[in-house]
Amino acid sequence: MVFQCRRKRRWKNMSPKQDEEEPQTEDSSLHGGRIRSFKHERGNWATYVYFPYHPEEEFEELLEELLSAAASHGVVLTPQEEFHLSLSQTVVLRHHWIQPFMQSLRAGLTHCKRFVCSAGRLRVYCNAERTRTFLGMEAFTGHAQLLDLVRVIDQTLTEFQLETFYKDPSFHVSLAWCVGDLTEELKEITKELQSLVDERDDGPFHLNLDCAELRCRTGNKTFRFSLEA
Ligand code: AMP
Repeated sequence: MVFQCRRKRRWKNMSPKQDEEEPQTEDSSLHGGRIRSFKHERGNWATYVYFPYHPEEEFEELLEELLSAAASHGVVLTPQEEFHLSLSQTVVLRHHWIQPFMQSLRAGLTHCKRFVCSAGRLRVYCNAERTRTFLGMEAFTGHAQLLDLVRVIDQTLTEFQLETFYKDPSFHVSLAWCVGDLTEELKEITKELQSLVDERDDGPFHLNLDCAELRCRTGNKTFRFSLEA
Protein backbone atom coordinates (compact mmCIF):
# COMPACT_ATOMS: atom_id res chain seq x y z
CA MET A 1 0.00 0.00 0.00
CA VAL A 2 1.44 3.37 -0.93
CA PHE A 3 1.31 5.47 2.17
CA GLN A 4 1.92 9.15 1.77
CA CYS A 5 1.40 10.80 5.12
CA ARG A 6 4.93 12.22 5.11
CA ARG A 7 4.23 14.18 1.95
CA LYS A 8 3.56 17.81 2.75
CA ARG A 9 0.47 19.56 1.57
CA ARG A 10 1.85 22.42 -0.47
CA TRP A 11 -0.76 25.03 0.31
CA LYS A 12 -0.93 24.29 4.03
CA ASN A 13 2.61 23.53 5.02
CA MET A 14 5.13 25.76 3.32
CA SER A 15 7.44 27.86 5.43
CA PRO A 16 6.55 31.55 5.50
CA LYS A 17 9.89 32.56 4.03
CA GLN A 18 9.45 30.34 0.97
CA ASP A 19 6.14 31.68 -0.04
CA GLU A 20 5.76 35.35 0.76
CA GLU A 21 2.89 36.88 -1.15
CA GLU A 22 2.11 33.94 -3.46
CA PRO A 23 -1.46 34.16 -4.69
CA GLN A 24 -3.92 31.49 -3.57
CA THR A 25 -5.32 29.39 -6.37
CA GLU A 26 -8.34 27.19 -7.02
CA ASP A 27 -6.21 24.24 -8.23
CA SER A 28 -7.69 21.26 -6.39
CA SER A 29 -4.35 19.41 -6.46
CA LEU A 30 -3.11 22.05 -4.03
CA HIS A 31 -5.58 21.02 -1.36
CA GLY A 32 -5.57 17.27 -1.68
CA GLY A 33 -8.40 17.18 -4.22
CA ARG A 34 -10.85 18.19 -1.52
CA ILE A 35 -13.83 20.40 -2.03
CA ARG A 36 -13.13 23.95 -0.95
CA SER A 37 -15.86 25.02 1.45
CA PHE A 38 -15.84 28.67 0.45
CA LYS A 39 -14.99 30.44 -2.72
CA HIS A 40 -11.56 32.00 -2.92
CA GLU A 41 -11.54 35.69 -3.73
CA ARG A 42 -8.48 37.82 -4.26
CA GLY A 43 -7.36 39.36 -0.97
CA ASN A 44 -9.19 36.75 1.16
CA TRP A 45 -6.95 34.35 3.08
CA ALA A 46 -8.13 31.02 4.51
CA THR A 47 -6.89 31.07 8.09
CA TYR A 48 -6.81 28.60 10.99
CA VAL A 49 -4.94 28.08 14.25
CA TYR A 50 -3.53 24.68 15.20
CA PHE A 51 -0.84 22.57 16.81
CA PRO A 52 1.11 20.44 14.33
CA TYR A 53 1.50 16.71 15.02
CA HIS A 54 4.67 15.08 13.71
CA PRO A 55 3.85 11.40 13.26
CA GLU A 56 5.99 8.69 14.83
CA GLU A 57 6.62 5.35 13.16
CA GLU A 58 4.10 3.50 15.30
CA PHE A 59 1.42 6.01 14.33
CA GLU A 60 2.14 5.49 10.65
CA GLU A 61 1.90 1.70 11.02
CA LEU A 62 -1.36 2.03 12.92
CA LEU A 63 -2.82 4.39 10.35
CA GLU A 64 -2.05 1.92 7.55
CA GLU A 65 -3.86 -0.79 9.50
CA LEU A 66 -6.85 1.48 10.12
CA LEU A 67 -7.12 2.42 6.44
CA SER A 68 -6.85 -1.23 5.34
CA ALA A 69 -9.54 -2.29 7.82
CA ALA A 70 -11.86 0.55 6.69
CA ALA A 71 -11.25 -0.35 3.03
CA SER A 72 -12.19 -3.98 3.72
CA HIS A 73 -15.63 -2.61 4.71
CA GLY A 74 -15.83 -0.52 1.54
CA VAL A 75 -14.87 2.79 3.17
CA VAL A 76 -11.90 4.22 1.29
CA LEU A 77 -10.11 6.89 3.30
CA THR A 78 -7.25 9.15 2.26
CA PRO A 79 -4.61 9.83 4.93
CA GLN A 80 -4.10 13.47 5.90
CA GLU A 81 -1.02 14.89 4.25
CA GLU A 82 -0.17 16.73 7.44
CA PHE A 83 -1.55 16.18 10.92
CA HIS A 84 -2.75 18.85 13.29
CA LEU A 85 -5.06 19.64 16.17
CA SER A 86 -7.26 22.62 15.30
CA LEU A 87 -7.99 25.40 17.77
CA SER A 88 -10.12 27.45 15.38
CA GLN A 89 -12.41 26.91 12.46
CA THR A 90 -11.13 27.99 9.06
CA VAL A 91 -12.05 31.65 8.72
CA VAL A 92 -11.43 34.17 5.97
CA LEU A 93 -9.01 36.98 6.73
CA ARG A 94 -8.57 40.06 4.55
CA HIS A 95 -4.97 40.56 3.52
CA HIS A 96 -4.55 43.88 5.34
CA TRP A 97 -5.80 42.27 8.57
CA ILE A 98 -3.04 39.64 8.68
CA GLN A 99 -0.45 41.68 10.61
CA PRO A 100 -2.86 43.13 13.22
CA PHE A 101 -4.50 39.71 13.61
CA MET A 102 -1.14 38.04 14.34
CA GLN A 103 -0.18 40.86 16.72
CA SER A 104 -3.43 40.40 18.63
CA LEU A 105 -2.88 36.62 18.83
CA ARG A 106 0.71 37.07 19.98
CA ALA A 107 -0.35 39.52 22.70
CA GLY A 108 -3.07 37.17 23.95
CA LEU A 109 -0.76 34.16 24.04
CA THR A 110 2.03 35.88 26.02
CA HIS A 111 1.45 33.99 29.27
CA CYS A 112 0.21 30.70 27.86
CA LYS A 113 2.36 27.75 28.89
CA ARG A 114 3.38 24.71 26.88
CA PHE A 115 1.91 21.31 27.78
CA VAL A 116 1.50 17.80 26.45
CA CYS A 117 -1.79 16.37 25.34
CA SER A 118 -2.68 12.79 24.48
CA ALA A 119 -5.32 11.35 22.19
CA GLY A 120 -6.53 7.79 21.74
CA ARG A 121 -10.25 7.46 21.06
CA LEU A 122 -11.39 7.31 17.46
CA ARG A 123 -14.25 9.58 16.55
CA VAL A 124 -16.00 10.49 13.32
CA TYR A 125 -16.32 14.15 12.27
CA CYS A 126 -18.10 15.81 9.40
CA ASN A 127 -17.67 19.36 8.16
CA ALA A 128 -20.57 21.81 8.37
CA GLU A 129 -21.38 21.48 4.66
CA ARG A 130 -21.39 17.66 5.03
CA THR A 131 -19.06 17.39 2.04
CA ARG A 132 -16.21 15.67 3.90
CA THR A 133 -16.01 13.05 6.64
CA PHE A 134 -12.97 12.61 8.86
CA LEU A 135 -11.71 9.81 11.08
CA GLY A 136 -10.08 11.57 14.02
CA MET A 137 -8.42 10.71 17.31
CA GLU A 138 -9.83 12.69 20.22
CA ALA A 139 -7.66 14.19 22.98
CA PHE A 140 -8.19 12.77 26.47
CA THR A 141 -5.74 15.02 28.35
CA GLY A 142 -4.90 18.72 28.10
CA HIS A 143 -8.55 19.73 27.77
CA ALA A 144 -8.32 22.63 30.27
CA GLN A 145 -5.23 24.10 28.59
CA LEU A 146 -6.75 23.69 25.13
CA LEU A 147 -9.90 25.48 26.29
CA ASP A 148 -7.76 28.33 27.71
CA LEU A 149 -6.08 28.71 24.32
CA VAL A 150 -9.44 28.67 22.53
CA ARG A 151 -10.58 31.52 24.79
CA VAL A 152 -7.54 33.60 23.78
CA ILE A 153 -7.92 32.78 20.07
CA ASP A 154 -11.68 33.41 20.19
CA GLN A 155 -11.00 36.89 21.61
CA THR A 156 -8.89 37.75 18.59
CA LEU A 157 -11.46 36.23 16.23
CA THR A 158 -14.20 38.29 17.87
CA GLU A 159 -12.07 41.43 17.58
CA PHE A 160 -11.97 40.84 13.82
CA GLN A 161 -15.64 39.83 13.67
CA LEU A 162 -14.79 36.28 12.66
CA GLU A 163 -16.52 33.08 13.69
CA THR A 164 -15.29 31.61 16.97
CA PHE A 165 -14.59 27.92 17.66
CA TYR A 166 -17.25 25.32 18.51
CA LYS A 167 -19.05 25.96 21.79
CA ASP A 168 -18.59 22.29 22.57
CA PRO A 169 -15.22 21.57 20.95
CA SER A 170 -13.95 18.06 20.47
CA PHE A 171 -10.18 18.48 20.28
CA HIS A 172 -8.79 15.92 17.86
CA VAL A 173 -6.22 15.08 15.24
CA SER A 174 -7.84 14.03 11.96
CA LEU A 175 -6.14 10.92 10.59
CA ALA A 176 -7.89 10.46 7.25
CA TRP A 177 -10.84 11.73 5.27
CA CYS A 178 -13.20 10.98 2.42
CA VAL A 179 -15.50 13.06 0.26
CA GLY A 180 -19.19 13.12 1.23
CA ASP A 181 -21.04 12.37 4.45
CA LEU A 182 -20.03 8.82 5.41
CA THR A 183 -20.63 9.38 9.12
CA GLU A 184 -22.96 6.40 9.53
CA GLU A 185 -20.75 4.00 7.55
CA LEU A 186 -17.69 5.01 9.58
CA LYS A 187 -19.48 4.89 12.92
CA GLU A 188 -20.53 1.31 12.18
CA ILE A 189 -16.90 0.20 11.97
CA THR A 190 -15.41 2.49 14.65
CA LYS A 191 -15.52 -0.24 17.31
CA GLU A 192 -13.50 -2.59 15.12
CA LEU A 193 -11.04 0.20 14.25
CA GLN A 194 -10.72 1.16 17.93
CA SER A 195 -9.62 -2.39 18.76
CA LEU A 196 -6.67 -1.87 16.38
CA VAL A 197 -5.71 1.20 18.43
CA ASP A 198 -6.18 -0.47 21.81
CA GLU A 199 -4.91 -3.99 21.26
CA ARG A 200 -1.30 -3.43 20.33
CA ASP A 201 1.66 -5.49 21.54
CA ASP A 202 2.82 -2.65 23.82
CA GLY A 203 -0.66 -1.70 25.03
CA PRO A 204 -3.10 0.91 23.67
CA PHE A 205 -1.62 3.45 21.25
CA HIS A 206 -1.62 7.03 22.52
CA LEU A 207 -0.94 9.93 20.22
CA ASN A 208 1.22 12.36 22.24
CA LEU A 209 1.23 15.93 21.08
CA ASP A 210 3.85 18.36 22.35
CA CYS A 211 1.84 21.59 22.53
CA ALA A 212 4.85 23.91 22.53
CA GLU A 213 4.40 25.92 19.35
CA LEU A 214 1.02 27.14 18.20
CA ARG A 215 0.75 27.95 14.52
CA CYS A 216 -1.56 30.11 12.47
CA ARG A 217 -1.81 29.31 8.80
CA THR A 218 -3.14 32.08 6.60
CA GLY A 219 -3.19 31.42 2.86
CA ASN A 220 0.30 30.13 2.16
CA LYS A 221 2.02 31.68 5.18
CA THR A 222 2.58 30.07 8.56
CA PHE A 223 3.03 32.16 11.70
CA ARG A 224 4.53 30.47 14.78
CA PHE A 225 3.87 31.25 18.44
CA SER A 226 6.16 29.61 21.01
CA LEU A 227 4.49 28.95 24.32
CA GLU A 228 6.32 29.58 27.60
CA ALA A 229 8.27 26.65 29.06
P1 AMP B 1 -9.94 19.28 11.46
O1 AMP B 1 -9.18 18.01 11.45
O2 AMP B 1 -9.60 20.15 12.62
O3 AMP B 1 -9.91 19.99 10.13
O4 AMP B 1 -11.47 18.90 11.74
C1 AMP B 1 -12.20 18.06 10.88
C2 AMP B 1 -13.63 18.47 10.86
O5 AMP B 1 -14.25 18.24 12.12
C3 AMP B 1 -13.86 19.96 10.57
O6 AMP B 1 -14.48 20.10 9.32
C4 AMP B 1 -14.78 20.40 11.69
O7 AMP B 1 -15.80 21.21 11.18
C5 AMP B 1 -15.37 19.09 12.19
N1 AMP B 1 -15.97 19.12 13.51
C6 AMP B 1 -17.25 18.75 13.69
N2 AMP B 1 -17.60 18.86 14.98
C7 AMP B 1 -16.52 19.33 15.66
C8 AMP B 1 -16.27 19.66 17.04
N3 AMP B 1 -17.19 19.55 17.98
N4 AMP B 1 -15.06 20.11 17.37
C9 AMP B 1 -14.11 20.23 16.43
N5 AMP B 1 -14.28 19.92 15.11
C10 AMP B 1 -15.48 19.48 14.72
